[in-house]
Parts: sequence; structure tokens; C-alpha cells
Amino acid sequence: MNKIEIISYIIFLVHVPLFYFSYNQFYLSFFDFFQLLGFTFLVGTIIISILFFLIRKIKNYNNPIIIFIGLFLFFSYGIFYQFLFDNNISVKHIYLIPVFLSIFILSIKYIPKPSKKIIMVVFTIFLVLIFTDITSFLSNYESDVATTNWKDSNEFDFIDLSGLPSVIYIIPDEYPSERALKTNLNYDNSQFVHNLTEIGFEINYITSNYMYSDISIPSTLNMNYLEKASKSFSYNDEISNSKIVELFKKNNYELILINGGTSVYAESFDENFCENINKNNFSYFTEYLGISMLRPVRSIIVDIIPNSSINEAENRTCFFEQLNNLKNLEGEKKFVFADLLMPHKPYFYQDENGNLQEVNDNEINKHNFIGNLEIVNDKLLTILPNLIRNNPNSIILLMSDHGFRYNLKNFDQDDLVFDNFFAIYLPEGYSLENPGSTVNVFRSLLQNVNHDIQLTENLHFANCGLSPESQRIQIDNMDNFSIRCP
Ligand SMILES: [Zn+2]
Repeated sequence: MNKIEIISYIIFLVHVPLFYFSYNQFYLSFFDFFQLLGFTFLVGTIIISILFFLIRKIKNYNNPIIIFIGLFLFFSYGIFYQFLFDNNISVKHIYLIPVFLSIFILSIKYIPKPSKKIIMVVFTIFLVLIFTDITSFLSNYESDVATTNWKDSNEFDFIDLSGLPSVIYIIPDEYPSERALKTNLNYDNSQFVHNLTEIGFEINYITSNYMYSDISIPSTLNMNYLEKASKSFSYNDEISNSKIVELFKKNNYELILINGGTSVYAESFDENFCENINKNNFSYFTEYLGISMLRPVRSIIVDIIPNSSINEAENRTCFFEQLNNLKNLEGEKKFVFADLLMPHKPYFYQDENGNLQEVNDNEINKHNFIGNLEIVNDKLLTILPNLIRNNPNSIILLMSDHGFRYNLKNFDQDDLVFDNFFAIYLPEGYSLENPGSTVNVFRSLLQNVNHDIQLTENLHFANCGLSPESQRIQIDNMDNFSIRCP
């Protein structure tokens, strides 16, 4: 191996995590990046060594071009798989991996020994590549000191909540409406809905205003729309400092958070249950493995590396236990924020003892999604009657943050991504004007104690990128649904 080759390998191995990082930099720290970089170098070096000796053995000479093809195929497999999935083509790994291997075998057979010139051309391409990575990475970090702004609503600065009881807000992430489940996944959820009404829940048809939790939930809690998002937008802070949370605090509510997998931790809350289980630096590792050919076995690898994964099953178990334990909320009034990353992936199944276990493939498909949905249904139908029995005068709001967002077969109405689940238990004497969308839910609830509160317009915003700022593209016409990203 000569110097140019070695530098090219290094550039490529820096490119892979940097490329991933620049797409996720709003969620990852620099420490995460260096972990991903270290892992990429370890795996990359093993692959390069194997391919180097393999090609030398077969061809009797070193061929860096074939090694680059091998590296490229290995590290882009998952991206390609995801691309097919996003375009409605779901292929099984068992068919796609042989295709990738055949491309590699053909390249061994047909790619001739490269001249020095060709290696220099490849080297130059790699230099351009890494230069592009760094530029796009830095451009995301333009100076931005503005704070995040929500559309102003002074009307909520102080409202006397003495007439309002304790509120339990349960968010099953990505739980679709009955209609969306039927249309998109051909799944009949009417039994669950019926069982909820039997125990006193009201079901409403409402939509979400945003497609992603990180804005949808803060918008619900701020009872308004996002005007401007800063680069330092933080889900935790947006919840911690939201209008409704401040209002509950001013009215001496005790604030309780139960973290069911979204890693949410709210500084302003009195209790943050289940959060310790989730404090882990490797939380993006599984997803990162998913971009490479290790995708089908990623959960096995994550299990082998010590401390590399959060015990997701343990966290969800903690969530359901804490939720079930809520008692005497009528004593000191409480606001309970119970954020559950289900039926959203990762996916689980219940073993013969009823314990949650993570599924191995973790791919988004009907089987996995419905599996999670049925666990949520099952747990809630056990927990909710206890909650009502132990806290008969509390309001229980069961509402997802958005609907199911993936193109699977039978997916013919894209606007159903906004169709989310809404059920509410209201004690005697309370009522709710249909809020229409998530932004109005707490406004509608507050109308019970203040008649001046108005509902706001029901708007919908598309997601045109991962940064909070790019999730604010307003959809003008939901009847003729189309997202036009700039
Ligand atoms: Zn969500």
C-alpha cells in the first residue's frame, strides 16, 4: 500500500461517520461523533485488511479500486435498503445482500489493475467528498444566537386553575387514528376503541399539526405554533419551559414526568421517572450500524458491546409500572407527562412470561408496528381502569403526537400522517370542545376554568429536513395534499 492509498482509505473512513453526523448533528454531540469515528476505523481497518489479502491471493497484486468498491458497498448497504423502503419497495436482506456480494465478486473479476493516474483521480474525488462534508457540516453551524420562539399567547400568562383537577397526559408516539390504521395498514382497532369508551373515555377525531415529536409535543404544550427555531432547539427545554407547564407550576401543581424511551428529561419537573435507565452515550449506535451491511445483525452486535445500548425493554417496563402506580393525584394536584416511544420503533414482543423483549430485525413493517401497537393496547387496557379507580377525579388524556408516517403498501392517503389518536377521560362536570388538532387540546381543556380562551387555527406543517426550522413548511391545502419543500 502506498501513501496515497492509505490517505484515501482514511478520508473514506472519516467521510462515513461525518456524513451520518451532519444529517443528525442536531441530536448528536461531538463525543458521539468520535465514538462513531472510532468504531468506523475499527471495522474499516478489518475490512480493508481482509480485502487486501483476499485480492492479493486471487489476483496476485494489490487493487485499491476493488477495496474501495468493497468498502463503499459495505458502508452504504443500509442507506440503499432504506432508500428502497422509502420508495415503497421492501426487499428482504436475504435477497439484497447476495446482490451486493455479486456486484463485489464481479468487480474482482472484471476490474483491471489501476494505473497510478486512476488512483490519483479516485484520491481527488475523495478529497472533494471530504471537503463537501466539512462545508455542509459547518454551514449548519452558522452563527445563530436567536432563541426559539412560539407564537405569542399572553392570554396564558396567568390562569387560575383551582377549578381544574390533576391531569395525566399519555403520549403513545406515532399511534395512528382508527381510520388511518384501517386505510394504511388494513388493521381493525375498533375493539380497543370500544374498550376505552366502555371505561369512560371519549374518542375524538383530531389531527396533529406537525409530523415529528420534537415540535409536535412542545407545540401541544405551548398551545401555539413555532415561529422560529434556533439551532440549539432542545426538546427537553421546550417541554420544561412550555406555557402549560409554567401555568401548572404557577398553580402549584406537582410536575411528574415518566420517560418511556424518548430520553426526555425536564429540568422544571419535580420527578423524572425512568430517566436513569436511558442515560447512555451510545444511543445512536444501533441506528448508525443500520447504514452499513451490519444492518440485519445490528441488535446482536449492540448486545455484545458492553454499555453500547440502552435497555429499551427495561425502560418501557419501568414506564408502564410508574404509570400504573399513579395514586392519590387528587391530594396534591399533579400534572403527569407520560411520554412513551411506542408503537414507534424500536419494536418489542412479549415473551411467554409477559416480559417485553426487543425484536431482532427492528425494521419498519406492518408486523412489527402492529406488534408494538397491540402491546400498547394491552398494557393500557390493564393500566387505565386502575388509574381511573385510584384517581376518579383526574383528567386522563391519551393522545399521540402524529400518525404513522411510512410508505408501506396500501398507503394511498399521505395526509393520514397527521391522523393521530385521541381519547380523553373527563371526570363529572368537565367537558371538551372538539379541539380539531393537537395545538388546541390544552386550550380546550382550559376553557373549563376560563371562558375567554379561544381555540386557534388548525394548521399543518410538513417536514422538509431534520432541523426544527425546516419542519415549518406550511401545507396550504390538506384536501389536495402535497408537500412542496423549498
Ligand atoms: Zn413522535
